[in-house]
Amino acid sequence: MLSLSQLKTLLATPQKIVITTHHKPDGDAMGSSLGLYAYLIQKGHHVKVITPTDYPYFLHWLPNNSDVIIYTDEQEKSAALVAEAAIIFCLDFNTLTRINELGELIRQAPGYKAMIDHHLDPEDFDDYRHWNINACAAAQLVYDFIVNEMEDGAFLTKDIATCLYTGIMTDSGSFRFPSATSTVYRIGADLIDAGAEHWRIHQLVYDNATENRLRFLGNCLSNKLEVIKEHNTAIITVTAEELAHYNIVTGDTEGIVNYALSVNGIRLAAFIIERKDKVKISLRSTGDFPANEICRKYFNGGGHRNAAGGVSELGLTETVAYFKSILPEYKTQLLL
Ligand code: 5GP
Ligand code: MN
Repeated sequence: MLSLSQLKTLLATPQKIVITTHHKPDGDAMGSSLGLYAYLIQKGHHVKVITPTDYPYFLHWLPNNSDVIIYTDEQEKSAALVAEAAIIFCLDFNTLTRINELGELIRQAPGYKAMIDHHLDPEDFDDYRHWNINACAAAQLVYDFIVNEMEDGAFLTKDIATCLYTGIMTDSGSFRFPSATSTVYRIGADLIDAGAEHWRIHQLVYDNATENRLRFLGNCLSNKLEVIKEHNTAIITVTAEELAHYNIVTGDTEGIVNYALSVNGIRLAAFIIERKDKVKISLRSTGDFPANEICRKYFNGGGHRNAAGGVSELGLTETVAYFKSILPEYKTQLLL
């Protein structure tokens, strides 16, 4: 293990550092990674952000995005960087299976592994851990790491603030989920004071859709939404053919599950999508309903209580039928 004071001593001189985050990074994954990147660069370290896969176009405007290395595009370079790193920061995930092949490279790498995360059930692969499931975003924990652990609040630049604000905004549903406590609002205010333009960040992330994406959303709502009143559940199903028809790219499907959850009375929403090699399921729930339990038990996945995901080895139609067959087990909780 590595104590905070040992980590501080290590970070007192320039180090080779890798920052990585989960597969198909979202706003929190990229915001926390690039926020930490901007901080560590400023402190004189040699830093690379390596993502396991590509990520949505509406995050490509983030400061220093052009420095990001995508593992699937540059495997050899990524492997060399991971092997040489003195410290590998793992942000917004806590099991190495969430980062595909990069996970094994990191497991075998000699450098210290530092986890900054807010998901349940961390795997024991790390040497240093800044972990809190009550945090609304990994970006909140990066803020905490910089300001309270490293005692470097004076180093919060506009770039750092912009990235961290993006992570907190996206993971807290624009500061509206229960996880957006008064502390989170205070951190948001501090980030605005440090230069984050909250109105601009919101616009770049949420008002940045392609025409195709909007028409695809229209199709999902008009033709693909199924409401199962008996179980207060709504499902949106998407075929590979529809993805091709609407030219859907990484990021275009993000957030669509929330429309299903916004139907009056719905407690559980599912977005089930036929990807190239597998069927992916995203669940959202309200209140105490454990969406992550369903993903863990039936879809080889996990996540938070109200936002979870997993995969299915079955075909699309069979996966939808399988999902529906699980609902009676949760009948009482769904009707609460
Ligand atoms: P999304 O539905 O946006 O893909 O994922 C929502 C949350 O569910 C993520 O933040 C993550 O915590 C969790 N999640 C999604 N997919 C998986 C998966 O395949 N495995 C695990 N363990 N968690 C997942
Ligand atoms: Mn997160």
